[in-house]
Amino acid sequence: MTDQKRFRSILLFGPPGVGKGTQGKILGSVPGFFHLAVGDVFRSIDIGSPEGKEVCEYTAHGKLVPDELTIKIWKKALDAYVALSWYKPREDLLVLDGMPRTVAQTELIQNTIDIRGVIHLSCEDEEDMIHRLRRRAIRENRADDANEEVIRHRFDVYREQSKPVLDCYPDDKKFSVEANGSPASVLSDILDALIPIQNEHFESDW
Ligand code: ADP
Repeated sequence: MTDQKRFRSILLFGPPGVGKGTQGKILGSVPGFFHLAVGDVFRSIDIGSPEGKEVCEYTAHGKLVPDELTIKIWKKALDAYVALSWYKPREDLLVLDGMPRTVAQTELIQNTIDIRGVIHLSCEDEEDMIHRLRRRAIRENRADDANEEVIRHRFDVYREQSKPVLDCYPDDKKFSVEANGSPASVLSDILDALIPIQNEHFESDW
């Protein structure tokens, strides 16, 4: 893939429970955006398959799935969405949710993905996010959100392995958005950052 043909993307970044999935799904319903969440891809795999079993061993304990396996599964899903024309790279900005989550992953996706903007959703109140995750556990029947020890471990993993990803991108591509407000006000702040990036995508050839 030439440099020109890397998929133009924006990254939704932030700790577990900060609202990446909620915002990503809303954005994905707006023409011109395609939302791809690694967590959703993992949850769609048949848990009886060898790959599904392997993924589950990590996710159930709040650990990151190894980089190579993650990239392999994620890329397969991405290629399928392109083949189905659900994601149209010429028209849509790809909204990445949960990818990259390690510095190694930023390097592994570099030939495929052109990150145009990073939305850093932040929330100072960890207890508030834990509360959101517990509600999500019931609503979405998610085993990894049901156990407080697993949740706390995911925050440690975020701090140690995922947060350094932010340093891989230049300041002029990063937008910090307070995640404490209502979903509508958070969305409004995200759109303020994304609309110029989307206009640029519409105006230039891919
Ligand atoms: P959250 O953002 O609440 O942690 P996700 O649905 O994004 O939840 O991810 C669920 C789980 O899937 C993570 O806890 C992790 O085990 C695994 N996972 C998601 N994205 C990645 C990734 N990029 N690399 C490795 N593991 C991942």
